[in-house]
Amino acid sequence: MKRILLCALILLLPLFGCKTELAHSAAGIACDTVVTITAYAPQDTVDEAMKIIAGYEAVLSRTVEGSDVWTLNHADGNPVEVHPETAALLRLAVEIGEQSGGAFDITIAPVSALWDFTADDPSVPDREALRSAASRVDYRNIEIDGNTVTLKNGAEIDLGGIAKGYIADRVAAYLREQGVAGACINMGGNVVTIGAKQDGSSWTIGIRNPNGTPEQSEEILKLNDAAIVTSGTYERFFELDGVRYHHILEPKTGMPVSNGLASVTIIGTRSDLCDALSTACFVLGEERSKELLDRYGVRAIFLYSDGTRIAYP
Ligand code: ADP
Ligand code: MG
Repeated sequence: MKRILLCALILLLPLFGCKTELAHSAAGIACDTVVTITAYAPQDTVDEAMKIIAGYEAVLSRTVEGSDVWTLNHADGNPVEVHPETAALLRLAVEIGEQSGGAFDITIAPVSALWDFTADDPSVPDREALRSAASRVDYRNIEIDGNTVTLKNGAEIDLGGIAKGYIADRVAAYLREQGVAGACINMGGNVVTIGAKQDGSSWTIGIRNPNGTPEQSEEILKLNDAAIVTSGTYERFFELDGVRYHHILEPKTGMPVSNGLASVTIIGTRSDLCDALSTACFVLGEERSKELLDRYGVRAIFLYSDGTRIAYP
């Protein structure tokens, strides 16, 4: 009798073998934005994932002294040996620079440094200063040879348009390595989902209504194993005399892009790529984005400030 019971138990084990892990979450501020991680994993694993973000921030931030980006920007044009991951990210950034005809350009730093969107008393930088800074923006001044990077002609870099996406990918990779089968990572509008929820339903991602409050969603996406990245005029901005000045900048003029768009959401699988493309497509506008979106096989949702919504394809 005992033996029969044991056999039955062994036979049943595979059914219950996939033990259900409770969902745990962590939230915090990193990379200048709100980060939340929810995963079917022990709290320790989720906390460790948060720590990974701080590690990458120390390497990719423009303002953290000693980071790869800081060192490059202070190297006076001399070659700098960077982390292999930094070199790879710079290669992707330069590629999107090329493919977008310079709409996405990480050498935007001299321009973005002139703007302070979150100052208590924000102002529009001097036109002449902006023009002069914009003339220094050109991704072709980035030379990458293995892990050695050289910034030519006084170029400086700012990875604000791609780093968060890259880091979200790395967090997802860590969780997958830990065997996590379900998770949702959100780094200030850079969302990565792993698997589905444990009840079998999909992760839900809200795209913010650009004219509403931060809590109001324009639409809800249900996506597993996806990267969803939104760039919008509401992330960092100030208003002066009825004009909204926001942080997505036109590399040619140094001014915030003004083309009627309020946000661009890119849906794909790689968050670094989607992040760069969200910024690139915002600058290019819907029509000129189509080729780029086709090339990388990603989808986009363009929301205009007048309420128009265009999905592509
Ligand atoms: P968010 O930071 O809200 O996710 P984006 O991904 O669009 O938004 O990135 C905006 C940031 O990217 C800016 O704060 C700035 O650091 C940088 N940036 C602004 N304009 C450009 C551009 N044309 N190309 C590359 N980077 C840009
Ligand atoms: Mg971006």
